[in-house]
Amino acid sequence: MAIQAPKGTYDVLPGRSGVWQAVERVMRESAALSGFREVRTPVFEHTELFQRGVGDTTDVVQKEMYTFTDKGGRSVTLKPEGTAGAVRAMLEAGMHGGPMPVKMYYINTPIFRYEAPQKGRMREHHQFGVEVFGAPLPTCDAEVIALALRVIGALGVKDWDLRINSIGCPECRAEYHKALRAFLEPRLDKLCGTCVQRFGKNPLRILDCKVEPCQAELVDAPAVLDSLCDGCREHFEGLKAALDALGIPYVVDARIVRGLDYYTRTVFEVVPSGGGPTITGGGRYDGLVEQLDGPRLAGFGFGMGMERLITLLEEKGGAPEAPRALDVCVAPLGEGDRLDALRLTEELRGAGIKADMDHVGRSLKAQFRYADKAGATLVVVVGGDEAGRGGVRLRDFAARDEAEVSRGEVVGEIRRRVGGLAFSE
Ligand SMILES: [Zn+2]
Ligand SMILES: [Zn+2]
Repeated sequence: MAIQAPKGTYDVLPGRSGVWQAVERVMRESAALSGFREVRTPVFEHTELFQRGVGDTTDVVQKEMYTFTDKGGRSVTLKPEGTAGAVRAMLEAGMHGGPMPVKMYYINTPIFRYEAPQKGRMREHHQFGVEVFGAPLPTCDAEVIALALRVIGALGVKDWDLRINSIGCPECRAEYHKALRAFLEPRLDKLCGTCVQRFGKNPLRILDCKVEPCQAELVDAPAVLDSLCDGCREHFEGLKAALDALGIPYVVDARIVRGLDYYTRTVFEVVPSGGGPTITGGGRYDGLVEQLDGPRLAGFGFGMGMERLITLLEEKGGAPEAPRALDVCVAPLGEGDRLDALRLTEELRGAGIKADMDHVGRSLKAQFRYADKAGATLVVVVGGDEAGRGGVRLRDFAARDEAEVSRGEVVGEIRRRVGGLAFSE
């Protein structure tokens, strides 16, 4: 039997990659408008980076990482999220010593999670994300949330709900943990095994549990928002004022804590209005850079699963149109015309026109059929009486006409009809 793709992975085939490219273009342009530039980091890092950066008590680190020992005996891990690598790269390059803030985005970054594959949750998926370092004020949070919404809106998703929450700083969270533990202690025997473990190390994570009996126990749990210190409360009020100033609607949802340990203060999620999986989520991580041996430096960012967004677009029929594979087919009339046809095909490509020719040895009729299937609107026939007169025959499917054009003018004529790619003159 032929070899198949590993479980939880898939291929973006040529018929669909155009949609990906169109989505990527929207993301890149939106990020650039907000002053972000791209960062590219390795697909694997030292395991320690994620243990310290993502957090030992998270599901990601405890259960879902693709970790292995390489031939040199080092433990390495395939990226389970995008932020820790970006922080590591910034610190290693000394960018934190330069002007603040540092704004970076990553796109099409492969993310690996070892979990049971199901609809929309793959073992390898791809993320678009942005990170801002050194901007502690809540207007930064609002601006980055606005960027996420601009991307989603530009891709045609109009019905979304923005949910925001504050999970405080280490100081006020310690207070909250006390209140939450006091609430959960008498209910411990009803919680799942994972939550019982979390109870000791990081009870906030229990709010994140998707298991039904745990959800039921949490209905009357105290909210983090009620335990915020003055600084965190002020910051959260600042975020709400900034979102109001931008006219961005939101709901405060005390149950949003996000799955990763590094978040402080603002956390947010954007979900489709009618329900469904989260489109994007993120928040503030003011302690992360320090946790990775850097200076005390504020951070804010979000990650956007590209598969989820593209699936959502395709379901709603809003996916950007994929570019046509081909503008023109060059058809040699006889075997003796093949090299002339090859030269003309390359000339067209050099002029920025998507061109192809027959390398199969098809009849002229079959070449026309192929051109139609490939979506080409033009066919140039090379050879015959026209060749004797220094010309070629040009058929235009879209305009439903056919004409003899001189060989010297055919490239210009085709360009006039189909346009050209941006990089050609
Ligand atoms: Zn606080
Ligand atoms: Zn649970």
